Amino acid sequence: MAGEGFMEQAQREPKDLRLDQAHSARMYDFYLGGKTNYAPDRATAVKALSVWPDAMVAARENRAFMHRATRVLAREHGIRQWLDIGTGIPTSPNLHEVAQSVVPDARVVYADNDPIVLAHAQALMTSSEEGRTAYIEADARDPESILSAPELAETLDLDRPIAVSLNALLHFMPDDTDPYGVVRRLVDAVPSGSALAISHVTGDFDPVAISAIADVYRASGTPAAMRTRAEVAKFFAGLDLIEPGVSVAHRWRPESAEGMAVVGEDLTDANTSLWVGVAIKP
Ligand code: SAH
Repeated sequence: MAGEGFMEQAQREPKDLRLDQAHSARMYDFYLGGKTNYAPDRATAVKALSVWPDAMVAARENRAFMHRATRVLAREHGIRQWLDIGTGIPTSPNLHEVAQSVVPDARVVYADNDPIVLAHAQALMTSSEEGRTAYIEADARDPESILSAPELAETLDLDRPIAVSLNALLHFMPDDTDPYGVVRRLVDAVPSGSALAISHVTGDFDPVAISAIADVYRASGTPAAMRTRAEVAKFFAGLDLIEPGVSVAHRWRPESAEGMAVVGEDLTDANTSLWVGVAIKP
């Protein structure tokens, strides 16, 4: 809950993690080869992979984009602070590890609404000595709960640029959750020179497979909304997109992908089916 310290959050009665039901964060962890997934997650993930086998490649390319975007913002745009919403189950390197490898005093606030992420959030809290990290359990559909959380004000300086990172989050927010309004509220809360980084699944390249995987998610209780390039570009309204603009994940500054296992040169757009972009607030 926003308003509590991490220790208070962790000491509360354990929440029902609904391990009997598939969950998007644990399915994603499965695609990434992680260990925080259970039989129902794996069963639904296998169903998802049967309609779109590239989900595993896309998950890896999505992480690789987050790494590159974080490094580019730190190196070329002077960003020292991040607000990462829809963090996911910790997968090393997490955003703060990438950021702190460039700027050791980087500060990162994470937020997610899945109790399983809270249960593993200690891994998100292992900051460098010079930097700081914090975790907020909150729902992106209520951005005020994130913006008014004491952990945010204690960790980030709201008068200095902050990169708002929404990676693989907004496709879980259909239009009835007001995703454009949520993004606007977040961008309004940060000063000039701040950044917005987004990755988002699209049906633009393989509509049949992507619509089928969206159905698998919806059938397991996870809302899903695929968006076109124009619909993803609309999230950046009023901001200055940095090169190369809204592009497919593996084509976004691939030259900076040091150390990544999948380099993407031989991938098709359909393989990743993710629109990504990074923009600066004027
Ligand atoms: N950002 C990470 C993980 C993406 S998986 C990455 O790109 O690698 C999507 C995450 O969004 C999951 O952890 C899920 O729990 C979280 N999520 C989905 N809907 C959310 C909401 N309304 N509020 C906060 N988090 C949400």
